[in-house]
Amino acid sequence: MPINGLGRDLLALLMPIECLSCKTESDWICPGCRRGLALQNEGLCFCGNTGENGLCIKHQRELGLDGLTILFSYTEPAVKELVSQIKYRGHIDGVSFLARYYQKKILARLPRGEWIVTAVPLSKERYQTRGFNQSELLAKKLTEPLYNYSELLIKRRETKPQAKLNKKLREKNLLRSFAVKKGLDIPSQVILVDDVVTTGSTIKEATKVLRKAGVEKIWGFALAHG
Ligand SMILES: [Zn+2]
Ligand SMILES: [Zn+2]
Repeated sequence: MPINGLGRDLLALLMPIECLSCKTESDWICPGCRRGLALQNEGLCFCGNTGENGLCIKHQRELGLDGLTILFSYTEPAVKELVSQIKYRGHIDGVSFLARYYQKKILARLPRGEWIVTAVPLSKERYQTRGFNQSELLAKKLTEPLYNYSELLIKRRETKPQAKLNKKLREKNLLRSFAVKKGLDIPSQVILVDDVVTTGSTIKEATKVLRKAGVEKIWGFALAHG
């Protein structure tokens, strides 16, 4: 047996993990269930319309992005559960799982060249309660072989949870809640990372702030849409 295989088996004995989908003892999502996970079609916008760089014309204008990469649909129950395990249960090793199996696929969908990666920030209060920013962890772990990370944005105030708000209220809720950190060199090309994109209000508001600060090209990346 190869040492790696043995190592993983020993690890599994110490800390058995059940697959979030079929409950067999394996990994966060077992190989069988991983094969069944549908990835977002690269030629389509998240709304389902065809588009360039992952955006239809309407969403390209509305969000103000140059491109958008989304890996999964949030309608995949295992993905939704994994995100909630990371975000609300603090199982940040779920991010390492994603890096192990999906980093290559993600990097293949992101633009080449001089891009700086940054994440949608949490408010200071939220960061202190949660102890980490899931979007920052995803941004760093999933893109580290190709890009440098820089913390460009801050969230100036806590906002209401977006989940129960409609699109108009989501935008109003986030208005002027982000700012660019003072005293930084502003890169010309930025990959902006959020964990999940729903209506796109968060990415849209953060993009607006980055543009105003002088960023020329902005490419969004989210783990899932839904
Ligand atoms: Zn499974
Ligand atoms: Zn669209």
